[in-house]
Amino acid sequence: MTQHETLLDSYARLTVRTGLNIQKGQQLLITAPLDAVPLVRRITEHAYREGASLVTTFYADEATTLARFAHAPDEAFDTAQGWLFNGMAEAFRGGAARLAIAGEDPALLAGQDPGKLARANKARSQAYRPALELITGFVINWCVIAAATPAWAKSVFPGIPESEAMDRLWRAIFACTKADLPDPIAAWDRHNADLARRTDFLNRQRYRALRYKGPGTDLTLGLADEHAWKGGGGKALNGVFCNANIPTEEVFTAPHKDKVDGTLRSTKPLSYQGSLIDGIRVRFEAGRIVEMTAEKGEAAFRNLINTDEGAARLGEVALVPHSSPISASGIIFNNTLFDENAASHVAVGQSYTENIRDGSKRSKDELAALGANASLVHVDWMIGSGDLDIDGILPDGSSQALMRKGEWAI
Ligand code: ZN
Ligand code: ZN
Repeated sequence: MTQHETLLDSYARLTVRTGLNIQKGQQLLITAPLDAVPLVRRITEHAYREGASLVTTFYADEATTLARFAHAPDEAFDTAQGWLFNGMAEAFRGGAARLAIAGEDPALLAGQDPGKLARANKARSQAYRPALELITGFVINWCVIAAATPAWAKSVFPGIPESEAMDRLWRAIFACTKADLPDPIAAWDRHNADLARRTDFLNRQRYRALRYKGPGTDLTLGLADEHAWKGGGGKALNGVFCNANIPTEEVFTAPHKDKVDGTLRSTKPLSYQGSLIDGIRVRFEAGRIVEMTAEKGEAAFRNLINTDEGAARLGEVALVPHSSPISASGIIFNNTLFDENAASHVAVGQSYTENIRDGSKRSKDELAALGANASLVHVDWMIGSGDLDIDGILPDGSSQALMRKGEWAI
């Protein structure tokens, strides 16, 4: 094996063991870009060795996505493959694990008609809902990882030959995911223990709100009643301990959907469904975005927050130190899986049930009454930097320094 193949195999093994923790007799459903075939084959091999009963992969080909935008009839853009997502939901209800491999061209659809794009995204989000609910509800063990692809690599490292860009992106992926360490699985056990100590501390504080101060940011972000901080690995409702994101550096919880007030500025670009969005500035009133501008991709961001009522409210708040290994790499990945772990962030849209205590035992109305948000979308965007200060507001109203200049102060 070449050195790249050895690392790819180590990454595949880490994905199956630490990411998914695939169980004997369990089915596995994978979605992946075409360029990820070599990685998918190794993952499939490791999954079967661990006892998986059946591995099924759906590949996406970006050239055929572009063909749709170029040639499909206009009325076709409200169509989505509900049959596929219903089938996925059925597989999850039957106990299948889920692996998503990211690696898309961040600007694939940048030149396309924003109206068609918004309709296609909305149709897809609606059709995907039955499957997504089982994911956000953490009903089964699931994991998201990434594979370097030529278009993505060229967007991260412009102006160098494609093979060199691919090589640099793979090396960055292996480093950020710890796949290049001698024993990646043991390294992840230690990493999970560190994140668990952090979430234990935060859960003991029972903060009522977080207060953010930084350039362009002056925000009070109320937390949901009965919120629970999570980070690193966790146990799905099927009893399997898995790591939903590889890499992950964040600790995160549920904001209160009606209690966010003030201004907030993004600090890194966000890639959303083929559009690059940058320089977001928003103002919240009683939880809702009431004013917004973006330096780049403003129409795409506007369409996103107009998806439904919950898309203009927050469903996640996450803390990541500015010195995280991903941030320290200095690379802007144009991919949320990596960039969200380089900086503190928020997400508009759906909240995670696991971020409310006993969330999976509560009804949708109960969750909403506690402040959890509901939406067809969940999109993270980065607000952290070396200039951001965050205070935790304790139940008695006093405040505690939580982060200073982007680093933990506790
Ligand atoms: Zn997050
Ligand atoms: Zn998120």
